[in-house]
Amino acid sequence: MAVTPLSVVPVVPASEDLAVYPLALRGLTVSYGQKPAIFSVDASFVPGQMTAIIGPNGAGKSTLLKAALGIITPLSGHVTVFGKALVDQRQRIAYVPQRASVDWDFPTRVIDVVLMGLYRELGLLGRIRRSHHDRAMACLTRVGMQDFATRQIGQLSGGQQQRVFLARALAQNADLYLLDEPFAGVDAATEKAIIAVLKDLRDAGRTIVAVHHDLATVAEYFDRALLLNVRRIAEGPVDQIVTPDLLERTYGGQLTMARMDPAQTAS
Ligand code: ADP
Ligand code: MG
Repeated sequence: MAVTPLSVVPVVPASEDLAVYPLALRGLTVSYGQKPAIFSVDASFVPGQMTAIIGPNGAGKSTLLKAALGIITPLSGHVTVFGKALVDQRQRIAYVPQRASVDWDFPTRVIDVVLMGLYRELGLLGRIRRSHHDRAMACLTRVGMQDFATRQIGQLSGGQQQRVFLARALAQNADLYLLDEPFAGVDAATEKAIIAVLKDLRDAGRTIVAVHHDLATVAEYFDRALLLNVRRIAEGPVDQIVTPDLLERTYGGQLTMARMDPAQTAS
């Protein structure tokens, strides 16, 4: 396959209406050093749908989310959020980072973590009012963590911490939710609770994009999938995308089909 030079940025066709997409990436290349972590990725995330980002370790999944959020500056390409530049739209995006990337020793109460979701509304010097507190508590209740409001975040289990971060994202009342491996290291009950909340958000017209590592549940949980291995391999409805052929192209030799569908390999 011919390698496109880094300097070539695919031109967005003038006819394409990016405003219909909560998140669109065009020709996005991000590099930490010489080798790009993601290369010339085009992706259009469809409104009111849950999309899984799937790919092997080091495929650039977290990098893609961080570039979409503006945490990392791309080498080339661009990101639009509802058709506009990211800077104008940041408050419409909620982000749940990979749990492992968070310093859990910071001395903060659960309720304060959730109130952080309101900071754009509060402003830096804004006073937290009863109504803010009530909203934060309502978000904690939605994830089943209302009894933990005054606990230190570092004292919670992995699953409980993940629920609290989801509550913070809910408090933000965003239109687009980006989650990095939300089910990693959580128990089955938490996984069910998180997926139920995400499906509610989706059914309310919000857009969900989540890095997902479990191929066994992807079709059950998600509407669409983006297969990524530095480059975009494929994107579309989950039943057309999560296929042995495309997964093979995404994971190369790293994937045994046994991981994909135990029933198929049982005979
Ligand atoms: P994934 O989330 O799919 O596992 P990442 O986006 O975390 O992949 O990483 C993609 C590649 O970029 C990997 O090779 C990783 O080592 C590299 N990488 C990620 N973050 C950094 C960083 N801050 N500095 C240097 N290299 C990085
Ligand atoms: Mg990652």
